[in-house]
Amino acid sequence: MEEILKTGLEAMGLSPSPEQLAAMTRYGQMLMQTNETTNLTAIRTWPEVARLHFLDSAALLNVADFAGKAVADVGTGAGFPGVPLRIMRPDIRLTLLDSVGKKMDFVRGGCISLGLEDVTCLWGRAEEMPQLREGFDLVVSRAVAELPLLAELCLPLARVGGLFLAMKKTDCDLEVARGDFAVRALGGRVREIRRYTLPGTDVEHAVAVIEKVRPTPPQYPRRWAQIKKRPLLG
Ligand code: SAH
Repeated sequence: MEEILKTGLEAMGLSPSPEQLAAMTRYGQMLMQTNETTNLTAIRTWPEVARLHFLDSAALLNVADFAGKAVADVGTGAGFPGVPLRIMRPDIRLTLLDSVGKKMDFVRGGCISLGLEDVTCLWGRAEEMPQLREGFDLVVSRAVAELPLLAELCLPLARVGGLFLAMKKTDCDLEVARGDFAVRALGGRVREIRRYTLPGTDVEHAVAVIEKVRPTPPQYPRRWAQIKKRPLLG
């Protein structure tokens, strides 16, 4: 796994230290081990964990400047993309949140065992955390919901001038277009869709880069039942 990570990260223009590679490998081992008894991820082989979790997460470092930023990972699951970002960029102030307690238990334990005690781990729903409102330079999220709904979970957390990076499959153009109304209603603007290929694979992924240009109106986010029932679709 370490070799895949090293060559992959280097192919992405990143230069991981031996300590960073060891930390990622260790976190991957904990993930695989815990996954035997608790269902945390559908990705089950070492090369897949290395590429689809770690390299995919680290790809965000080429999409935005993370230096010193306050970063929130909404629906982090087993810690992706947040944990690899924090390992590669120790200067970020990271908040991880997920609505499933057993996932946050794993992530919290994993962070502590890597010595990442400053990472804030929150168990709860993103749309029910008013204390986080407009509190982050960067909000990141992978595989949580379709953009029209996801925007309402994530954009309220970004400060004006910040970015929301929504990690998507490469064929996301229609989804992003469908999300445009919600993005605008929530104070955002779609800047671009960036695409990248995962080193060692022919898998292409995309990131919708969304700027926060205005404060989110106070009526948002709504409760999840409302978001689902009446998504902001124009
Ligand atoms: N980001 C991770 C996990 C994706 S699975 C990865 O890419 O590997 C989606 C995760 O989002 C689940 O763990 C689920 O519990 C969480 N989730 C869904 N809706 C949420 C919400 N409203 N607030 C916080 N977490 C949420």
